[in-house]
Amino acid sequence: MHGAGRVPDIEDLNLASAKVETEKRGIKVNEYMQSVSNPTIYAAGDAAASGGPPLTPVAGYEGRMVAENLLKGNHLKAQYVAIPTVAFTIPPLASVGMSENSARERKLKFRTNRDITSSWYSSRRVAEDCSGFKVLIEEGSDRIFGAHLLGPHAEEVINLFALAMRSEVRATVLRDALLAYPTISSDLRRSSLHVVVYAGLASMGIEHSSSRTSWALRTSLEFQNGSISPTGSTVHSDIMGELQQRTTRH
Ligand SMILES: Cc1cc2nc3c(=O)[nH]c(=O)nc-3n(C[C@H](O)[C@H](O)[C@H](O)COP(=O)(O)OP(=O)(O)OC[C@H]3O[C@@H](n4cnc5c(N)ncnc54)[C@H](O)[C@@H]3O)c2cc1C
Repeated sequence: MHGAGRVPDIEDLNLASAKVETEKRGIKVNEYMQSVSNPTIYAAGDAAASGGPPLTPVAGYEGRMVAENLLKGNHLKAQYVAIPTVAFTIPPLASVGMSENSARERKLKFRTNRDITSSWYSSRRVAEDCSGFKVLIEEGSDRIFGAHLLGPHAEEVINLFALAMRSEVRATVLRDALLAYPTISSDLRRSSLHVVVYAGLASMGIEHSSSRTSWALRTSLEFQNGSISPTGSTVHSDIMGELQQRTTRH
């Protein structure tokens, strides 16, 4: 399957006759999801150029906000904090928050916990030989800036990171949590450790030569390159950059 992105389906609405300004991403709205050119019009979801990513949960969130603002006057502003995205590949690739590159560009002080987890029990017991993570943690405060996961149930575990980030739960709290074992989410503790774990990446792409691994790596690289975009937005997962370098080298 190739997802080539999508466009808001607004062309045949003749919005110009109602003085509703639009742009490529949809109806131009302010922070209250109200048209910037016609205050009687509100927009939400894929049809709105709101700045939020075009995803189902975001459309629901914006829809609820529009209803509130319509009924009670403008009082709710859109906040797009820690919205997880998933590429439903095998294994899934999930991401929330900042990429390492964007955290560096913003000159933030953070450390990066990362590991290739194909030797961890959670991957081995389902014979997954292509898995890893990268978590960005602010120095000093232990706030989580971003998490990028590849592996079994990454699509579920990313929600825990999203919740932690949205609720400002610190990495230390995750590290000390007692979680059911053996579950994939119990790996959360290890991915939130203080020390920089950086072992085994070199083995990626060298030792694992099964066709499935190659396929997963290839797919991941295409995501990194932005050539696949199932949800209309590029998946920013720095860990893929690591994999790309190693695949290129080998
Ligand atoms: C292939 C694909 C895969 C995706 N995968 C994911 C995913 O895994 N996770 C995720 O979160 N998001 C995913 N999305 C994005 C998600 O589907 C959209 O962001 C979401 O559906 C947007 O909701 P919406 O209500 O704004 O628009 P829609 O869900 O498109 O709903 C708009 C509705 O309005 C109707 N309509 C259009 N014009 C008119 C008109 N003139 N009069 C009356 N009705 C009209 C349409 O028929 C439609 O029912 C995917 C999208 C695609 C295309």
